[in-house]
Amino acid sequence: MAVAYELRCRECGKTYGNTPLSICEDCFSPLEVQCDLEAARGRFTREAIARGPSSMWRYQSLLPVPEDYVPATPAGWTPLLQAPRLGRRIGANNLFIKNDAVCLPTLSFKDRVVSVALANAQIFGFDTVGCSSTGNLANAVAAQAARLGLKAYILVPADLEPAKILNTQVYGAKLVRIDGNYDHVNRLCSQIAERFNWGFVNVNLRPYYAEGSKTVGFEIAEQLGWRLPDNVVVPMAGGSLITKIRKAFKELIELGLVKEKEVRFFGAQATGCSPISTAVKAGTEAIEPQRPSTIARSLAIGNPADGPYAARCIRESGGWAEDVSDVEIVSAIQELAETEGVFTETAGGVTTAVTARLYAHGRIKPDELTVACITGNGLKTTDALAGAYETEQAIRPRLTDFEAYLEELDGDKGDRERDRVLVGGANVR
Ligand SMILES: *Cc1c(COP(=O)(O)O)cnc(C)c1O
Ligand SMILES: [Zn+2]
Repeated sequence: MAVAYELRCRECGKTYGNTPLSICEDCFSPLEVQCDLEAARGRFTREAIARGPSSMWRYQSLLPVPEDYVPATPAGWTPLLQAPRLGRRIGANNLFIKNDAVCLPTLSFKDRVVSVALANAQIFGFDTVGCSSTGNLANAVAAQAARLGLKAYILVPADLEPAKILNTQVYGAKLVRIDGNYDHVNRLCSQIAERFNWGFVNVNLRPYYAEGSKTVGFEIAEQLGWRLPDNVVVPMAGGSLITKIRKAFKELIELGLVKEKEVRFFGAQATGCSPISTAVKAGTEAIEPQRPSTIARSLAIGNPADGPYAARCIRESGGWAEDVSDVEIVSAIQELAETEGVFTETAGGVTTAVTARLYAHGRIKPDELTVACITGNGLKTTDALAGAYETEQAIRPRLTDFEAYLEELDGDKGDRERDRVLVGGANVR
């Protein structure tokens, strides 16, 4: 028997079966996939999961696809790393990094959500798919659509990073640059999806897309030896990921795979686009839209679709939200790379800098088990580090030249260390 799942309105509870739809026709609230947990009992077990593939599809029986669905686009099952060296820098004794900078196939956590969305695009019979994107989603949709033989139209703000544009075009997708910000692009996509009957992963397929984010939570729990952490720090764009990690933890508790525990959720944004953290700090779930201006373009959604739910998730769990400046983001990217060997994009800089601040402000205690979600790869936003490193003069292939080089390096070192902004340190608040 297939595990039943269907769309359900988050506010009025009206159910819709399974159909490409994201907004309730009665009350205009978002729809969400509801999986029948009772039906999963006995099949979603630690043993069955351990026998599954080394991808997010090991959790297939709690994802919205038919039981006999054969995944064609494996994604996820990324490393959970202990981060002792970064931890020492920021006063954390039990810090882990969930490293979706190396999520396959396109190096961001968006591969997870697209994997589920395109499975459903095929089930619904769409031959053309698309998305509105701040970059990573564009890459993930383009790559996975190519593999599935679907046509893809990707709409992006015109000022997107060059690497993310190239990483979309190379897969043969049609990339449409829009003269406007993400919120303009998203509105246009809703109209296109309706007019042309295409499957837009974050518009009419959004409820299915969003369920893919649960796998981050499932993996964290399994990789911790089927335990839940005390805290999770999550970067927020539309605000979906943070709510879905919480949903995943609740499902694991409900099915008895982990001991019951209230995990605190901490949201991370860039100050230049911080509608959710601003609401959390003001003690409200009402999101005031912003006009984004930050180097963290993958998080630059000024009017986040799941903003109120993200704010509620944070408040109910006893967590908090913070936002950091572009200067702190760049320093944090360097800090994470230098301490743990993980090169993240700007969104991961946001997570790292916010994590540092949460420890500095005592919102997270040093010994608590904390997982910081690194969601994208630094090779996609190298322009954020433009000018951070000088191109050194080439030296002759002689030992004496190298010795002279070392001597000069020693002299420069003091200057460089004085210039550097220390993340979570005394000179950043
Ligand atoms: C999309 C994205 C997020 C946030 O996802 P939401 O579910 O929209 O909040 C975080 N990090 C990266 C790198 C992303 O691309
Ligand atoms: Zn409704």
